[in-house]
Amino acid sequence: MKWEIVMGLEVHAELSTKTKIFCGCSTEFGGEPNTHVCPGCAGMPGTLPKFNRQVLEYAVRLGLTLGCDIAKRCTFDRKNYYYPDLPKAYQVSQLYAPICRNGGLTIVGEWGEKFIRLHQIHMEEDAGKLVHSAGNVTLMDFNRGSTPLLEIVSEPDFRSAAEVIAYLEKLRETLMYLDVCDCKMQEGSLRADVNLSVRPAGEEKLGVRVEMKNINSFKAIARAIAYESERQIDVIESGGTLIQETRRWDDDKGESYGMRSKANAADYRYFPDPDLPPIVLGDDELARIRATLPEMADKKRERYIADGVSAKVAASITAHKNVSDLFEDIVRHSGNTKESANLISGEVMRLLKGDDADIEQLDVQDGQLGRKLGELVKLVADGKINRNAYKEVVGVVFADDGIEPMRYIEEKGLLMVEDSGAAREAVAAILKDNESAVEDYRAGKQKAFGFLMGQAMKKLGGTASPDVIKSTLTEMLEG
Ligand code: ZN
Ligand code: MN
Repeated sequence: MKWEIVMGLEVHAELSTKTKIFCGCSTEFGGEPNTHVCPGCAGMPGTLPKFNRQVLEYAVRLGLTLGCDIAKRCTFDRKNYYYPDLPKAYQVSQLYAPICRNGGLTIVGEWGEKFIRLHQIHMEEDAGKLVHSAGNVTLMDFNRGSTPLLEIVSEPDFRSAAEVIAYLEKLRETLMYLDVCDCKMQEGSLRADVNLSVRPAGEEKLGVRVEMKNINSFKAIARAIAYESERQIDVIESGGTLIQETRRWDDDKGESYGMRSKANAADYRYFPDPDLPPIVLGDDELARIRATLPEMADKKRERYIADGVSAKVAASITAHKNVSDLFEDIVRHSGNTKESANLISGEVMRLLKGDDADIEQLDVQDGQLGRKLGELVKLVADGKINRNAYKEVVGVVFADDGIEPMRYIEEKGLLMVEDSGAAREAVAAILKDNESAVEDYRAGKQKAFGFLMGQAMKKLGGTASPDVIKSTLTEMLEG
């Protein structure tokens, strides 16, 4: 029998707001345990939540970009469950009237183009973190508690692990370009739950679904999907019964195990949060947010290609938002798109070792690196410095942000000699030091010219172009 895998995704994105969703505590990652905590986010009785409107703005930015219907009025609900990382014993979330419904995104791959539909996007708060340590001790850190999240819920439209990965990559790119989430999977800012079931090919009815929670890398997601779909097919084919449950994926062991039987919405006893009034979004505010939407990666790629950048290089530049910001800074200061693209895909990638983590660390916020590299691109394109000097100064500027390229170039004498005065001086000295070669040349030995040329090049250290040296040398030998 042929089986079809059916999957839906619930992605949690931690928003990069400075403060939490219902209080003024910092959302910064890490920190001493329980230092980013107040009575509100620690769930103390008698405290009241105050909604951080930036969260709404971020949700609307994502919703507009993904073509969702934006609710003019949305509400918060309490999702009740008890777990030690949730001191209130309920999570504030949205069930009945979420901020975004519908919409979706297109993924491209071996299947061609495919539209993945979204069910909804809602705002909610994160839970704290349990730290299991030696001696059977579990500690609680509430720093992460009440960090704002967007939960992006898809329809069950995925049929393969490759489609899931393509979707997550596209979603990550979108969140990064919108500047609403840093998407560091290793820090848990982007977490995916996969709901998976199998059914005989051609069957309409969905099978029993299993939820796999918080898998923390794209590679692990692909492995977990392969494992879980095979496990379900085995159970059915051997006459067993699947149960609806939540399973944890152990990437080290390469297997999943059951955590708990999966609760349905009714089990959470959702009800409207009486402490939070409905959120009303005015037309003017919606228009204002729409006007702040940045250019997205695929639009940038199209624009770069139209400006003469190859499709491959354009894709590598836009793969990281900070790299495309850097590229645009360089172009702005150099006025030279092609040379700027070559710099990014060549020397810059070499310096960053093409490593994703290193690339993500690159901070280009203040625009200074782009300005300096732009100046260098202009200098090399105008023939003011040669390629070797260019490479050297690019490396120096990268390694030390205190270096001003022009000052460095002047100090090191890397500027090309424009008038032939300096070249004449150098050539005169060479001719004086190599009288026998000069005589050889005048006696008709062409080889001697090459030798003298080499000496002059060496002496000028690449600061004069070979053309200038050649014409100066010829003129002085003949003259
Ligand atoms: Zn707080
Ligand atoms: Mn959630």
